[in-house]
Amino acid sequence: MLFARENRFDLTPAVTVAVGLILSAIFLPVMLNAQTAPKPAFTSHRITDSIAMLEPADTNGNVGVFYGEEAVLLVDSHYERNVEALVKEVAKLSDLPISFAVNTHIHPDHIGGNARLAGYGVTLVAHDRVRLRMLKELRIPRRGGITFPQPAEAARPIITYSEALSFHLNDEEVRVFLAPPAHTDGDSFVHFVESDVLHLGDVFRTNMYPIIDQYNGGSFLGMIEAMEVAIEIAGPETKVIPGHGGEVSDLEGMIEVHGMLSSLRDLVQSAIDSGASLEEISAMNLSQEFDERWGGVPSWTFTDLLPIIDSELRAQR
Ligand SMILES: [Zn+2]
Repeated sequence: MLFARENRFDLTPAVTVAVGLILSAIFLPVMLNAQTAPKPAFTSHRITDSIAMLEPADTNGNVGVFYGEEAVLLVDSHYERNVEALVKEVAKLSDLPISFAVNTHIHPDHIGGNARLAGYGVTLVAHDRVRLRMLKELRIPRRGGITFPQPAEAARPIITYSEALSFHLNDEEVRVFLAPPAHTDGDSFVHFVESDVLHLGDVFRTNMYPIIDQYNGGSFLGMIEAMEVAIEIAGPETKVIPGHGGEVSDLEGMIEVHGMLSSLRDLVQSAIDSGASLEEISAMNLSQEFDERWGGVPSWTFTDLLPIIDSELRAQR
């Protein structure tokens, strides 16, 4: 009884019940509707007149869409099951068919839609190592290492690159280039140069601690370096699409992540320098000040990250 407690309305019980019934009549159908209506597979965030971020309801990989007079290019392809929803969402932005899809890295929620998109005539593009990894079963680090079946032949990128590749489309240069080994060793950054927008794949996620995929060449120290590369490119107006996370981010968001990563590195380094073993460091609760913001996803917390940071720092000595 918020109203009564605040004494803003002096309602008799009968009036309160009547008001309650009227409010229920108005809001109950809305609430029921919200409960029963299926959540759309993607929420579209328009960043500029030619770039949007499609945020999947399941919080898996964000898809970038670049569109204009000449062509539509996607960054990442999400899962196969959502390709039709993805294509429909893109059709709200452009009448043109999708010409290209660039995969930022090998993980299933970024390449899963590839084969079906190829069936729509989309040309698939990725770093050389993404294609190589598609030639066998996939392995990712969550929950102690999960395997996925080898992707279909149709999912393989038909254009690959080693250092960098540019598209010249819609009056813009779209630069795709290899980041330092970070989330994996085949992470592409995508820079829409004129629009001043970056898509950083899972090197930059805003919803949890970064995942370092050691099965696929990832590196914690490399991730700090990769964030420095992105920060170097960005200006105060740059918009940044994170691999995961519901908001389009910016320079400040990248500086925050870089700060968190560097602080964790420094904390673990000091503990190592003091002679502590990994077991002893685990008991130190070093991530305390960061856990509330970054540690909310149980399948990947600081407990998963610490042995990676520890082993990389010890290997450097
Ligand atoms: Zn990933």
